[in-house]
Amino acid sequence: MVPSKALADAERRPYWLDRPLAPEPLPPLTGDVTADLAVIGGGFTGLWTALMAKERDPSLDVVLLEGRAVGWAASGRNGGFCAASLTHGLGNGRDRWPAEIATLERLGRENLDEIERTLSRHGVDCSFERTGELRVATEEWQLAGLDEEVSAAASLGVRLERLDRERVRAEVDSPTYLGGVWDRDGVAMVDPARLAWGLRDVCVRLGVRVFEHTPVRSLHDDGTALELGTPKGRVRAGRVALGTGAFPPLLRRLRHFLVPVYDYALMTEPVPADLLAEIGWRNRQGVGDSANRFHYYRLTDDNRILWGGYDAVYHNGGLVRPEYDQRDATFEKLATHFFETFPQLHGLRFTHRWGGVIDTCSRFSAFFGTAYGSRLAYAAGYTGLGVGAARFGGNVMLDLLQGRLTERTELEMVRHKPMPFPPEPVRSGVIQLTRWSIARADEHEGRRNAWLRTLDAFGVGFDS
Ligand SMILES: Cc1cc2nc3c(=O)[nH]c(=O)nc-3n(C[C@H](O)[C@H](O)[C@H](O)COP(=O)(O)OP(=O)(O)OC[C@H]3O[C@@H](n4cnc5c(N)ncnc54)[C@H](O)[C@@H]3O)c2cc1C
Repeated sequence: MVPSKALADAERRPYWLDRPLAPEPLPPLTGDVTADLAVIGGGFTGLWTALMAKERDPSLDVVLLEGRAVGWAASGRNGGFCAASLTHGLGNGRDRWPAEIATLERLGRENLDEIERTLSRHGVDCSFERTGELRVATEEWQLAGLDEEVSAAASLGVRLERLDRERVRAEVDSPTYLGGVWDRDGVAMVDPARLAWGLRDVCVRLGVRVFEHTPVRSLHDDGTALELGTPKGRVRAGRVALGTGAFPPLLRRLRHFLVPVYDYALMTEPVPADLLAEIGWRNRQGVGDSANRFHYYRLTDDNRILWGGYDAVYHNGGLVRPEYDQRDATFEKLATHFFETFPQLHGLRFTHRWGGVIDTCSRFSAFFGTAYGSRLAYAAGYTGLGVGAARFGGNVMLDLLQGRLTERTELEMVRHKPMPFPPEPVRSGVIQLTRWSIARADEHEGRRNAWLRTLDAFGVGFDS
């Protein structure tokens, strides 16, 4: 089908957020309150932080302040791949922290198991399906990377299944697949908006005071507490946890480490059973391809296909604007790639198209720290793999705020920051050169040019 025809009726909103299930927002803060802990940001980082703070100490007085509605940003509009990896994949983690990758992998799997247990303990219904992820090669040069991943995982005691062309096509039948790896246990699929809304409800049930439409505009230390200014009220809190993702951070120093990068996705109408049978996909895994500019895709519980990725767009100056959530050139490209991957689905239509902003840092995985004499902690920089890792980020922040030395806080990954991005306008130049080089590498059998090799040597880069 011509992509523009398949896209013609697609709503310009995130599918996940565009459903009657969306709860009414909770009232904004009016007046002045005090709290032991104030959490800023109602995405997964903030929600998990507030929830776990109450589970650690039910007597703690916790408030959560969200500038718009809980889950409206990245957390409610993503692919819903809830991965164990804390490091944006094993390869990335091993390159950066070879000495602690075994610990990071174990902590990541424990984190994913804990997510599953917490959702079941609190009855959060978000279509959590531990189906794993199939990583597929669509070009010959990508096959070596799959073999490498399997042996690296094996050396850490993690079993990944290497599938040849026939076996991978028996799972999900695309004529473009040449081979694959099935990580059965390390990734779950979730409905991200229902996860965010469910976590909000749990927070409220545990006694967290959640205020929506309450942007924090100022932060200062009055000597005894941190004071947060919002349009209609103030919070004085002993401790503050900052989980504000890609948005301009209240703590200015974070601007050196974060760039907002836009990622885009499409959602199809439900795929009729006979058509879906032609593809197989009985095990309902999430799928990702192995190019530098990769696609990710998965089934929803009513058998729509979410199809996203490929372009990672940085706007010069690092601007975050509502109009950037739409990008027709990217939607057309994504639709074209969709029908190349699944020609069997010719005639299927997309119902939604949207984009969202990702908190990208130069090492592709979250960083952490404190300010104001360790009374404020922050976690950001998940770089497109924060659905699962956000809970880990929340745990790190709580450890730091309690002044506890834990296995988490002792990690090199937690103690050290990523390389900062240079200031503008050099920042834009460097990012656009890197994007161009990444696209060229995909067109030249993965060969990395001198610029990418230099970045690799310094352990830095750009990704979504
Ligand atoms: C299109 C897309 C697809 C993705 N796919 C995946 C995927 O499949 N798997 C995966 O692991 N990751 C994915 N990600 C990334 C993932 O969504 C994020 O890493 C994760 O949701 C980050 O959560 P967060 O809470 O840190 O940030 P956010 O969800 O962005 O939440 C931050 C919140 O802070 C609030 N805020 C900001 N400033 C203030 C302030 N001053 N006062 C009050 N509130 C404030 C914002 O309103 C926002 O609600 C994707 C992201 C996008 C955009």
